[in-house]
Amino acid sequence: MPSYRDFHRLSIDDPETFWREQARRIHWDTPFDTVLDRSNPPFARWFVGGRTNLCHNAVDRHLADRAQQNALVYVSTETGIERRYTYAELYAEINRMAAVMRSLGVKRGERVLLYLPMIPEALFAMLACARLGAIHSVVFGGFAAPSLAARIDDAKPVLIVTADAGARGGKVIDYTPLMDEALARAKHQPAHVLLIDRQLAPERLNATYLVAYEPLREQFFDAHVPCEWLESNEPSYVLYTSGTTGKPKGVVRDVGGYAVALAASMEYIFQGRAGDTMFTASDIGWVVGHSYIIYAPLLAGLTTVMYEGTPIRPDGGIWWRLVEQHRINLMFTAPTALRVLKKQDPALLKKSDLSSLRTLFLAGEPLDEPTSAWIADALGKPVVDNYWQTETGWPILAIPGGVEALPPKLGSPGVPSYGYDVTLRNEATGDECTPGEKGVIAIGYPLPPGCMKTVWGDDARFVSTYWSSVPGHQLYSTFDWGIQDEDGYVTILGRTDDVINVAGHRLGTREIEEALSSHAAVAEVAVVGVTDVVKGQVAFAFVVVRDAQQFADDKARNKLASELMKTVDRQLGAIGRPARVLLVSMLPKTRSGKLLRRAIAALAEGREPGDLPTIEDASALTMVRDALAGR
Ligand code: ATP
Ligand code: MG
Repeated sequence: MPSYRDFHRLSIDDPETFWREQARRIHWDTPFDTVLDRSNPPFARWFVGGRTNLCHNAVDRHLADRAQQNALVYVSTETGIERRYTYAELYAEINRMAAVMRSLGVKRGERVLLYLPMIPEALFAMLACARLGAIHSVVFGGFAAPSLAARIDDAKPVLIVTADAGARGGKVIDYTPLMDEALARAKHQPAHVLLIDRQLAPERLNATYLVAYEPLREQFFDAHVPCEWLESNEPSYVLYTSGTTGKPKGVVRDVGGYAVALAASMEYIFQGRAGDTMFTASDIGWVVGHSYIIYAPLLAGLTTVMYEGTPIRPDGGIWWRLVEQHRINLMFTAPTALRVLKKQDPALLKKSDLSSLRTLFLAGEPLDEPTSAWIADALGKPVVDNYWQTETGWPILAIPGGVEALPPKLGSPGVPSYGYDVTLRNEATGDECTPGEKGVIAIGYPLPPGCMKTVWGDDARFVSTYWSSVPGHQLYSTFDWGIQDEDGYVTILGRTDDVINVAGHRLGTREIEEALSSHAAVAEVAVVGVTDVVKGQVAFAFVVVRDAQQFADDKARNKLASELMKTVDRQLGAIGRPARVLLVSMLPKTRSGKLLRRAIAALAEGREPGDLPTIEDASALTMVRDALAGR
């Protein structure tokens, strides 16, 4: 194996040779004639002329060797249901679903919107779409009717697949009234709505749309639906970004490039081998769910664990019991889940046999050092951060352990993955930063296979949003701000609009948050910039403590605030010291667990945060308001 450096170099200097080799990982019904078409930058087409199919590669191809291996282990702690599907059984279920969809008029190139909870049928439906060459668009189950309606109007599906209800933390969320309202609001109307009845809630769906899945599944029980061989660059799915910074963008993914990129990432980044078991605790509504619950593990012949429930029900030991029961080798989740677990009894972690587990991967938001150190220590296993976006589909920054055993560095998700020509750029001049200098994380043309092809239905927006913000260069902007060291490791300092300017000093909110979270009392923290007449901007810190009872009175709170300010002074200097430290019991987040710093900043400046369709719990805004008002 070459060194990471040589490996990365080759991928950038000679992407044709590099990716031609990687493309052998998947089955091509017709070989491609061109590895990379760069005739129309910033658009790139990979494996042009090649014909393949994601479902064939994820399922059919494994039947020869692993028909009796589990492909999917499904566990719901909400309903108590546990099911296992071998690759042979998965094949059968996907064919039934594909036949049902076909009978409802779904064809190649058409969109199918999935508004589903974490049930096996969600995975069947995604792969059935892939089989038919239809484009799935998964909308996170539980999004409110206006968000759902906006996505229906944007994706214009011929079919919607939904369920009677989702469940979270013991509460049933009726989907059908939400769907009815969304359809009433949407301009576009699907031909049918296919309903998976979990018998959790009475269905109230408008009868004119309704088609029940179960009787049709029976009717097509023995169906075999051939895979539609798609040209590598045809769309496989549309997935909307989390909407942390504004209106979600419909990210379009291709077929061949995505399959190749994910298969390669399983070896080089996640080090998952055929026969391993992987548990990605995320949701199919997010990109991590698409790539690492569904496609990548199955493409690589693993067993994937799909979990409906929270990390703390019935208690905070549930995930670790799953590791023991299912001999899980790889786990992948978001730091937000660990911060929830950190508040639980640490003894729960020690009760299960974790010997099968090799690595815990984390992505999605900054991993603060205390949380990372806490979990690594508690588990006794490597905890590996990786950084990416819905847009890229797989990690931009990671520790490519399958290439070279680079040591992780606390606070950094790692080095640029092969295929990504990452540079840090000065926001004002577009010049490349020197090591240690802060800048915007940018990626050179072309983006590697697996990354977004365009914005759904809006090529111009793809160019203007992503490729036009670094002065003087046509570079892809991540809109994240970071710093790269001499060894190439990048630390994320926050989103570019989260950078604050205190008396002429540019500070990433993440830097201040990192300092604050090193205090033992802190469970979670959000720092935002607030306009200030003297300094331009000052930082406000909103802190969730681990044990609220300890800080019930003003005296204890004030003492904590001054300790926290001193902590920042020590680590960053007084320039980073928050002007105010406010205790709250919850922070406003998107449903994918990302902090809504813009909304907090708006409240701190006395403005209204505006529409927040992707917010997890709107009462968190009231808590921020109350804290600001000293209530
Ligand atoms: P929108 O683009 O609609 O505002 P979003 O950016 O929150 O939504 P995602 O694509 O789900 O939607 O999130 C990607 C972002 O998450 C990254 O750009 C980065 O800001 C953050 N992120 C992801 N992984 C990490 C990580 N390991 N460390 C720090 N930040 C991360
Ligand atoms: Mg984004």
